[in-house]
Amino acid sequence: MASIGVQLAKVVVKKLLGRLPTFPHLGSNTMGKDDVRIVKQWQKNRARWFNRETVDRFGSEFAAWNGSAYGYAFMGGRVALSACISALGLGPGDEVIVPGYTCIVVPNAFKNAGIDVVYADIELDTFGLSAQRAAEKITAKTKAILIHHLYGLVCRDYEALLALAREYRLMVIEDCAQAAGAVYKGKKVGNRGDVAFYSSEQSKCFTTSQGGVATTNNEEIAARLKKYYLDAPFPPEERVYKLLTTLRYNYYAYVHRGRWFLKDWLGYRYGGNILVSTTAAEVAGRQPVDQGCKMPAPLAAVGLNQLAKLDRCNEARRANAHRWDRWCRENNYNPPLILPGSEPVYLRYPVMVEPENKSNPGWLEEKENIRHGLWFQTNLHPAPSALTGCPGADSAAAKCINLPTLGL
Ligand SMILES: *Cc1c(COP(=O)(O)O)cnc(C)c1O
Repeated sequence: MASIGVQLAKVVVKKLLGRLPTFPHLGSNTMGKDDVRIVKQWQKNRARWFNRETVDRFGSEFAAWNGSAYGYAFMGGRVALSACISALGLGPGDEVIVPGYTCIVVPNAFKNAGIDVVYADIELDTFGLSAQRAAEKITAKTKAILIHHLYGLVCRDYEALLALAREYRLMVIEDCAQAAGAVYKGKKVGNRGDVAFYSSEQSKCFTTSQGGVATTNNEEIAARLKKYYLDAPFPPEERVYKLLTTLRYNYYAYVHRGRWFLKDWLGYRYGGNILVSTTAAEVAGRQPVDQGCKMPAPLAAVGLNQLAKLDRCNEARRANAHRWDRWCRENNYNPPLILPGSEPVYLRYPVMVEPENKSNPGWLEEKENIRHGLWFQTNLHPAPSALTGCPGADSAAAKCINLPTLGL
């Protein structure tokens, strides 16, 4: 490893040559100084990393905050989804309907359980599953349907999809990875299907760097989720160390005022100890690194602290979304649909723009002092597009950008 002086010089030279953006990166990360303090305390206390008590408490407190009866914390939203799949008893020979505009890790979780994934197109008002398109895909083998609430919006066809599931006796999994706290008719999303999962990955509504929670209101499903959770191992100690390093890094790289410099600097310093949430192997269809693992105690401790701040973060996002409402009006773009009766959390603010603007990273730098987000550039983000028959999703992949709602 190069000396600190050499590393520092490299960062400075790169900045001066303009090869790295000096522009502040505006993510959606919600790490605070208080969270970093918690991480530091736990880093000194390895003996307690694999104590289940804090993890149990985080699962239960998340469920209570969410208005759900049961909650269990895992190493990712995708891992929580695998727990849901297992708890619903889905397996080989079953088909599940999934929106054709999602993260690759979602279909992977089904495929890795031997389930056939059938994609149905999305609508372009909230980028949720189209009830009409989903209805066309139901066969005798269809056992479940996955409804997602993207960008923190409540999906347009929420009621129609639930009704469709009731009519055909399909189980409903709600993907709330981007929508923790979004409300529909007085109840938070995730409480109308059979089971739901949430994510605390670094770019989501709240963060534990990586992590997720599965919730349900059904006692039998809860018993099976709980068994899955109790049987689940913790990630290895070395992995937990890296997750904690990543949490600290995320604060300095995405939130701290010095992030324009610290991101690159700490990138050199921490090197291989900074984890990415989706590996190349996963993009190619393989299991997550932490498949089947529950959350270790230090992440759950950060999760508890994050949970205490989540309502405030969501309020800030809602307030900042007004800026983008105005921006849409002034620039002749359509704001996203706010489903009547819903209160979105605006994890990001999605807008359909010209494809050439989506693909120009500097488009909004000068005028708006931000960089737009790209979820998703393909229908199965971030895997190269492999879907046909979902023209709405293709259109969103080409045109939908998302604007930051924190740190403005
Ligand atoms: C992030 C995300 C997931 C996966 O959550 P992880 O915690 O990263 O495993 C699933 N679905 C959607 C829509 C997401 O945005």
